[in-house]
Amino acid sequence: MNIHKHVSLNLNLRGLGESATLAINDRCREMKKNGVEVLNLGIGESPFPVPNFVVKALKMYATENRYLPVKGLPELRKAVADYHWHKDGVKVDPNNVLIGPGSKMLMYLLQLSFYGEIVVPTPCWVSYVPQAQLIGRQVQLINTNFEDKWHMSAERLAELCESEHDTYRPRIVVMCYPGNPDGGTYTAEELKEIAAVARKYEVILLSDEIYAQIHHRGEHVSVAKYYPEGTILSSGLSKWCAAGGWRLGTFTFPENLDWLREAITDAASQTYTSVSSPIQWAGVTAFKGGLELERYLWHVRRIFRELSGRCAEMLRESGARIHPPEGAFYLFPDFTPIADKLNKRGIMTGKDLCEALLTEKHVATVPGVSFSRPANEFTFRMSYVNFDGATALAASEGVPLHENLPDNFLDTYCGKTLDATKRICDFMNQGA
Ligand code: PMP
Ligand code: GLU
Repeated sequence: MNIHKHVSLNLNLRGLGESATLAINDRCREMKKNGVEVLNLGIGESPFPVPNFVVKALKMYATENRYLPVKGLPELRKAVADYHWHKDGVKVDPNNVLIGPGSKMLMYLLQLSFYGEIVVPTPCWVSYVPQAQLIGRQVQLINTNFEDKWHMSAERLAELCESEHDTYRPRIVVMCYPGNPDGGTYTAEELKEIAAVARKYEVILLSDEIYAQIHHRGEHVSVAKYYPEGTILSSGLSKWCAAGGWRLGTFTFPENLDWLREAITDAASQTYTSVSSPIQWAGVTAFKGGLELERYLWHVRRIFRELSGRCAEMLRESGARIHPPEGAFYLFPDFTPIADKLNKRGIMTGKDLCEALLTEKHVATVPGVSFSRPANEFTFRMSYVNFDGATALAASEGVPLHENLPDNFLDTYCGKTLDATKRICDFMNQGA
């Protein structure tokens, strides 16, 4: 007799909601349609064009029409392994590289395939926690604070491992640096200490280094250098190559996590099959890089470095606590020090604050609560990318590489971002 067994997982997706960053983008589009010109600091994507030589490669490979291996094009997996060796000093076997349609999808499949605990320090990128919710999984949050530079210290990690009755419980700890939403990063010393604790408690690190090449001084250090046997390194084309819409992300696995890599590969084979062939071929060119890419990144970093420094200064003068920006393209000001003043104006939560900025000043930002921060904290994320990157890049190319940008550069080419920051400051200074 055949016994048919139906196994159903009761996942309740009601209340999950759309990704906060994508939702704010839609809202800006909607307002624009209704004639309101919004300054959009909500969505986090590079304002710059994809480097020319990578675009040329994509055109050349437009005829590639075959399905590619689930794990990714072998040439691309090799290029990614070489890239991490040259950029990060991390030795990776190309067989341990996985290519996915964005690192976001790979992260989701990782959470789906792993049976242990997921630990996420907050503030954290908007999708780690909702992805866990999609799977019906609990996440352990480690709340950091401004004084910690919004980062998890080695001590906090050790405390977490020791406080559980099951110290060696299988765990993945997610780290993101340069950070989204905080725009800061870890020092090599901090990473070494975290690596030592992770090794001691056999914790797996998911190191989200998608902004590595947008370290504003080009000095990114990967924790995988200090903990190669336990770090899954996440990267992709979305940020440094300004190709978020191309949807290409990469994971590199340590040798001893082949069971996890294989589980994710199986899930990939049953879902997205493989990443678009022309994109993977163009990805080979991008990851191989070269002088043109290095020059491009140099300009990108210089613009982000100078723009973020200026915006941070303006916010600080309006009462925000904010750390000097170090990478990515985000600022995460904390206006909690002026909470009393905001409360008197009827603004009780970070969400209220962002809503008021949008309706009164037409500036879109994303509240701290979307990055798993407490609702009553007056933090929000500003993506300082609402300027014409192509024009700014072309202008920067006229300024010698070793010089700072001329005085009026930011006003001329990044005026909309400065305007948005000024409107935020004006809002905070109201009733002062
Ligand atoms: N991690 C972080 C911190 C991000 O900001 C993003 C942005 N989309 C992602 C992962 C996912 O990027 P993608 O799927 O485009 O590789
Ligand atoms: N990563 C971008 C952000 O944080 C947007 C894209 C996304 O969330 O997938 O704004």
